[in-house]
Amino acid sequence: MRKPIVAANWKMHGSRQMTRELISAVDEGLDNGWSVEVLVCPPFVYIDEASKQLAGTDILLGAQHLNPNPGGAHTGEISASMLVDLGCSHVIVGHSERRAMYGDDDQVVAANFVAAQEAGLVPVLCVGESLEEREQGITDQVVCEQLSAVLDAAGVEAFANAVVAYEPVWAIGTGKTATPEQAQAVHKTIRGLIAGHSDKIAGDLRILYGGSVKGSNAQALFGMPDIDGGLIGGASLKADEFVAICAAAGTLE
Ligand code: PEP
Repeated sequence: MRKPIVAANWKMHGSRQMTRELISAVDEGLDNGWSVEVLVCPPFVYIDEASKQLAGTDILLGAQHLNPNPGGAHTGEISASMLVDLGCSHVIVGHSERRAMYGDDDQVVAANFVAAQEAGLVPVLCVGESLEEREQGITDQVVCEQLSAVLDAAGVEAFANAVVAYEPVWAIGTGKTATPEQAQAVHKTIRGLIAGHSDKIAGDLRILYGGSVKGSNAQALFGMPDIDGGLIGGASLKADEFVAICAAAGTLE
């Protein structure tokens, strides 16, 4: 059985004090008996603070973005090896906010995915359709194209050491969650696409749902057969909500 993951994407929120307080409150709320991996992705500048606070806990540390180049003249950018140096094990690639606002197209996302893995990081690859695309009935096509760009660049074996997050753009930060059935249908499509290349890798791949997940809707989503946890934005900034989501993932029958 796949162990669920609940990942916190703090986006551009926080301070050093908030980093300490939020991580400490989440760690206190988590129960060792829950079967869930918990990952926190703070803004770059708070990763080091988070790393210190996470020492001795089982909570994993990740980043929200990276530059695919190994180093050099890339003013303002952060490389994969720098993230490893700070103690990160994971990095989010292809978040819809980066795709929409910072020019991260499928090629950039694929390059980021490959660079992350080459440095030993586990990429959390985000895919998802806009409202317009859903209304046009092309959700599966959009998601498969986003996934195929990475499959073509990295090969299916790369997905043995990656996580996929299905995040419908219309559900991110809007309070409109996909129904468990809507999400399950797309998760099944994603797993099916990977299974077309390798049944084993598809069967082991963790596919997270993201988009207005809260303590109150997490259990119904995570109870679906192809949903293996969540990527959490807004609710990850409130310790009690985030812990409730971790509980929902970690106590599935
Ligand atoms: C996200 O940023 O990845 C996200 C899912 O945000 P929210 O939970 O706020 O919808």
